[in-house]
Amino acid sequence: MSQQITTVGIIGAGTMGNGIAQACAVSGINVVMVDITQPAVDKGLAAVAGSLDRLLKKDKISAADKDAALARIQGSTSYEDLKAAQLVIEAATENHELKLKIIKQLDALLAPEVIIASNTSSISITQLAAVTARADRFIGMHFFNPVPMMALVEIIRGLQTSDATHDAVHALAQALGKTPITVKNAPGFVVNRILVPMINEAFFVLAEGLATPEDIDAGMKLGCNQPIGPLALADMIGLDVCLAVMEVYLKEFGDSKYRPCPLLKEMVAAGRLGRKTGRGVYAY
Ligand code: NAD
Repeated sequence: MSQQITTVGIIGAGTMGNGIAQACAVSGINVVMVDITQPAVDKGLAAVAGSLDRLLKKDKISAADKDAALARIQGSTSYEDLKAAQLVIEAATENHELKLKIIKQLDALLAPEVIIASNTSSISITQLAAVTARADRFIGMHFFNPVPMMALVEIIRGLQTSDATHDAVHALAQALGKTPITVKNAPGFVVNRILVPMINEAFFVLAEGLATPEDIDAGMKLGCNQPIGPLALADMIGLDVCLAVMEVYLKEFGDSKYRPCPLLKEMVAAGRLGRKTGRGVYAY
């Protein structure tokens, strides 16, 4: 029997933090969502309210469900309020030093049986666990954006994560209506490990002049049933983010198969980062 989780603490009320808060609250789980400033907390709460409003307008939830979900989320700027939780999910800004600091702080504050999870996309779960006195009760919970819509959660076991911790978090992901997959800790976990090198390969195909960007994307959409082509997806993710991920894989695995495509590097150097700069592979 795995540990029952009825209250989840969340660090960070940003894109992922408020999405995780919403997913928990609509599934009947109480949430304490903490950010540094009151405006950041309020912005996160407003994002959840706006998202629930859209679901209400589409008749996906009732007005009573919406109100009940919102009532389950307590916003706070105090870590002390996290003491009510059986699991705390760290979803703060992706910065290594910051995450180490937050996790040490949580480890000192929370009762020993509380599980700490991180939603990091790129930092080693084993390494984050190692700064705590509860490496067996530390785990990765990698949600996908937008959290309320995306069915997958990668559950990442650090070297010392216990079976009981894994089972409790796996059961929670299912209670949120998600499909969890269990992954051993390694750079990129499973999804990004496969996705980003595929995008990088699409840049090699483009650089070699094998086909136009439109035809490369059409090929992968129609031939592999992907909802979006790899080059259009790179523009959405940000070419700088794709490049940074390939550089991490190259360094961490020491394998030249992760060499970033020179054309990807050129576009990043030119400031063509994708949708966010108005131009990447395509113009917006
Ligand atoms: P974001 O910038 O939208 O939100 C981060 C929030 O953390 C901000 O509101 C910030 O004020 C808060 N924060 C910073 N320091 C804090 C502290 N000491 N205590 C409490 N709150 C603090 O970022 P995001 O996109 O939500 O990403 C959060 C995490 O989720 C990152 O680790 C990221 O890698 C991961 N992630 C992001 C995505 C995505 O698509 N955005 C997908 C999967 C995982």
